[in-house]
Amino acid sequence: MEVKSVGVVGAGQMGNGIAHVLALAGYDVLLTDVSQSALDAAVSLISKNTERQVSREKITAEERDAAMARIKTTLALADLGKTDLVIEAATERETVKQAIFEDLLPHLQPHTILTSNTSSISITRLASRTDRPEKFMGFHFMNPVPVMQLVELIRGIATDEPTYKACLEVVERLGKTAASAEDFPGFIVNRILMPMINEAVYTLYEGVGSVRSIDQSMRLGANHPMGPLELADFIGLDTCLAIMNVLHDGLADTKYRPCPLLTKYVEAGWLGRKTQRGFYDYRGDEPVPTR
Ligand code: NAD
Repeated sequence: MEVKSVGVVGAGQMGNGIAHVLALAGYDVLLTDVSQSALDAAVSLISKNTERQVSREKITAEERDAAMARIKTTLALADLGKTDLVIEAATERETVKQAIFEDLLPHLQPHTILTSNTSSISITRLASRTDRPEKFMGFHFMNPVPVMQLVELIRGIATDEPTYKACLEVVERLGKTAASAEDFPGFIVNRILMPMINEAVYTLYEGVGSVRSIDQSMRLGANHPMGPLELADFIGLDTCLAIMNVLHDGLADTKYRPCPLLTKYVEAGWLGRKTQRGFYDYRGDEPVPTR
């Protein structure tokens, strides 16, 4: 089955990036959100980001105009029923995602593939609440979507091969690379990345290193482009903690215990860049370590 049109649910950080790359690759995109202001903000951000691509000569002005013309928005979730593929990228709460799929089901065409961009919720469980578990997959983009090369494709226990192949074709047409992952907590990237970040927080908590020495060690000693604490601030400390809790609960192994210092930062509302303070304080000209 060839996918021509894609519905994107949720116009936040991930949804706007997903709409951006789909439209540039030639798909008709229908973007929905519960909030008109989120839709307006997403379209204006996509416009700004594609403009920057034109000024850096990554795309032409014609490609940009064509992409922007392919993006339509709607507040009515039911309108996405006419698309070939739905990518759900709404808030990371299982009840929210379940309600979206339940509301969408009566409006779908029989062939429509349903996917979720969830970082941690079980694909098999989300799929089991729909009428088409065999046409349901995890479609996990990385942040920021226009920049990051990888998409994890996660099969639920019931996902069939034609569904996997159709999603793989979409990833390839986006010029991205797919990694196939099984449906276990954290999939591949977060299963490996989050325990490393959590261990960096333990290293800080136990006084083995300071914020600066830990980040510098991993940048210069392991050739990571960003230190683990800088990266945690970029992802959001609440998101890091939520994923550690999913690993801890889902795999029932104490090695995934979230570091109490990570919990403390989240309790303080120091969530990283989005709140201007995390392991670094971003309120001045230069980030300053908070420990
Ligand atoms: P976000 O908070 O920036 O955006 C979520 C959007 O969903 C908001 O605009 C909100 O209004 C909208 N929304 C909430 N309920 C809705 C509903 N019922 N119908 C339609 N829209 C609704 O969140 P985000 O960072 O873009 O994350 C979205 C998804 O992507 C989550 O599942 C998250 O786990 C996943 N993800 C996030 C990252 C990341 O680094 N932020 C990376 C990979 C995957």
